[in-house]
Amino acid sequence: MTNANPESTDTHLISNFLRDLIAEDVRTKKYGDAQIQTRFPPEPNGYLHIGHAKAICLDFGLADEFGGKTNLRFDDTNPSKEETEYVDSIQKDVRWLGFDWERLCYASDYFGQLYEWALKLIKDGKAYVDDLTADEIRQYRGTLTEPGKDSPFRNRSVEENLDLFVRMKQGEFPDGSRVLRAKIDMASPNLNMRDPVMYRILHATHHRTGDTWCIYPMYDFAHGQSDSIEHVTHSMCTLEFTDHQPLYRWFIEQLGIFPSEQIEFDRLNLTYTMMSKRKLLQLVKENHVNAWDDPRMPTLSGFRRRGFTPEAIRAFVTQAGVSRTNGSTDVEMLEHFQRDDLNHRASRAMAVLHPLKLVIDNYPAGQEELVEVANNPEDPSAGTRQVPFSGEIYIEQDDFREIPPPKYYRLSPGKEVRLRNAYFVTARSVVKDSAGNITEVHCTYDPASRGGNSPDGRKVKSTMHWVSAAHAISAEIRLYDKLFLKPDPYDFPEGEDVLSNLNPNSLEILAAAKLEPSLANAKLGDRFQFERVGYFCVDPDSAPGKIVFNRTLPLKDSWAKIEKKAGI
Ligand code: ATP
Ligand code: MG
Repeated sequence: MTNANPESTDTHLISNFLRDLIAEDVRTKKYGDAQIQTRFPPEPNGYLHIGHAKAICLDFGLADEFGGKTNLRFDDTNPSKEETEYVDSIQKDVRWLGFDWERLCYASDYFGQLYEWALKLIKDGKAYVDDLTADEIRQYRGTLTEPGKDSPFRNRSVEENLDLFVRMKQGEFPDGSRVLRAKIDMASPNLNMRDPVMYRILHATHHRTGDTWCIYPMYDFAHGQSDSIEHVTHSMCTLEFTDHQPLYRWFIEQLGIFPSEQIEFDRLNLTYTMMSKRKLLQLVKENHVNAWDDPRMPTLSGFRRRGFTPEAIRAFVTQAGVSRTNGSTDVEMLEHFQRDDLNHRASRAMAVLHPLKLVIDNYPAGQEELVEVANNPEDPSAGTRQVPFSGEIYIEQDDFREIPPPKYYRLSPGKEVRLRNAYFVTARSVVKDSAGNITEVHCTYDPASRGGNSPDGRKVKSTMHWVSAAHAISAEIRLYDKLFLKPDPYDFPEGEDVLSNLNPNSLEILAAAKLEPSLANAKLGDRFQFERVGYFCVDPDSAPGKIVFNRTLPLKDSWAKIEKKAGI
């Protein structure tokens, strides 16, 4: 588990082996006077998720620290899964997180160069065309404990290989009939070195190159060379690529091109969160969520719509740190950083999510008044606002109990409480419908307690939020809970899958919440703390006269408890 101290979010204060390594290369002038160059290389086959935020912060953040530059490079070598929608969303999300790239690159821009390099390897006797089927290739490959077997096509002549590869490119052969493979070592202990496939035939339209190509390089034949072409000095990636590093180096050495250095770090995993783009796409396609930017999704667009801020995400990612072993971080830690950020920046407002009418019997009929309320007690410069008060108001259903349980300090018959910044009220009686549900609570108020304090020094144990009934606006409120029921969504019984752990109650819609009237002016991007309830933001589904709020987070912060339990 990673340490979390929200106060020390300055990136320079947190040690990080990637930074130490780059600092050492700068000190020894490993790359001469060349600038530090990094890249963020997403495959445009889905929206970015919170795990990508970690890679982005490292790629851009570390280059920045050392006066270097970062490219955004789309690893678009697989035409069948990639779409322009993803290319656009990825750029938007990187910018939203607060970063900008030096150059926008595409692996597909290098298809011509990669093809030339493939020809060179064939001519050097380092690559061959193989006619085995995909299944046969897999069988011939061997296992971790058994060496592989040479393909019967491994010793084709250079001429034959050149002829076949050129004809593959010209579209003479059907999909899957042949591949180009590197000729390395079928007995290598590293399976990636057992004559990996470099090119496959795929008669598919590419989102950028259209129908120019019908052979496409494999990721492993494109990635290292793309780094090299862009003179990437430090190619940071996640640990699953460690075993691919020898292959990337092999290609670079055979081709005699710029040697980028690959450094691996751990993936960010969060409890209750699934981060595979392939599985997230399934959630969208099968309508388990509404869209990629559904506020329950762990995508950056989902977090944005939910009201999370780039500042909090960056602070969290930095504090979660980097290591060389994969682990899992409590999602509550991310939420803690977000609350901390919103506590400072969100304006306060009063909103009643589950309204119960409170009638003040001794309040003069027809009277109304304005009470002054601080916009943010954490930030006096945020000023105050006037909120209308009258003889009929809404309070939360939970703030009244006809028969109070022990230690219930909120309103109940005969009990006096404070209505925030307004008056003391004492409950007197209830009105019920024919089913016995309470529809109204009647109370009396103490006119001398205006502002929320009684001149005789009388104390009350509870302060409640409220909204004047005549002035309230109605709003739809969307409450989100965790998308998965288990800390590890992949912990499912045999025969089932991750979907069996979906939380059926991850979204609750309240159609008739009552809000103080100032919220009628709330705009997209505005963030609020609804007093005693949580943090909320305006959802893009809002329309004139129909405002929709998303709950970013409830107020209660469980991270402090987790920290205490863990003895951090
Ligand atoms: P996924 O498996 O979630 O679909 P991916 O690794 O296939 O992700 P890419 O588009 O290839 O996604 O990722 C771009 C970069 O982001 C890569 O360098 C990858 O290592 C990094 N990355 C992806 N997921 C994470 C994560 N959970 N934590 C940190 N870095 C990540
Ligand atoms: Mg990938």
